[in-house]
Amino acid sequence: MDPDCLFCKIVAGSIAAKRVYEDDVCLCFADVNPQAPTHLLLIPKEHIGSLAVAEKERISPVLGHLMATAADVARSAKLVNGYRIVANTGADGGQTVGHLHLHLLGGRAMSWPPG
Ligand code: AMP
Ligand code: ZN
Repeated sequence: MDPDCLFCKIVAGSIAAKRVYEDDVCLCFADVNPQAPTHLLLIPKEHIGSLAVAEKERISPVLGHLMATAADVARSAKLVNGYRIVANTGADGGQTVGHLHLHLLGGRAMSWPPG
């Protein structure tokens, strides 16, 4: 828990979010500024700043869990036409919140390349 971290505060419940799924390892909640009809965020409950700062040994099981959970949530949300999972990392990656997260976007066709 990083007391200055927005997403740690959401995990702790001191900042409200529309919680969609949670277990011991991760929390999934609605993005407050959705970029698609379905736009959810999946975060580890422990504070990990980003992919760039995480040690491989520590992050591997967490990432596996987040990705598999994203697929489960997408199934529950009936994103049968597909979806996109994004992990913005660092300044050039467009990361604005310093707590590792996956975006799960769906409900419309996505373009490529990303901006
Ligand atoms: P990123 O820019 O990849 O770091 O993504 C951070 C995401 O967090 C953005 O899509 C924001 O809209 C979202 N966000 C910021 N504050 C909140 C909040 N209080 N509740 C839900 N989502 C948030
Ligand atoms: Zn945090």
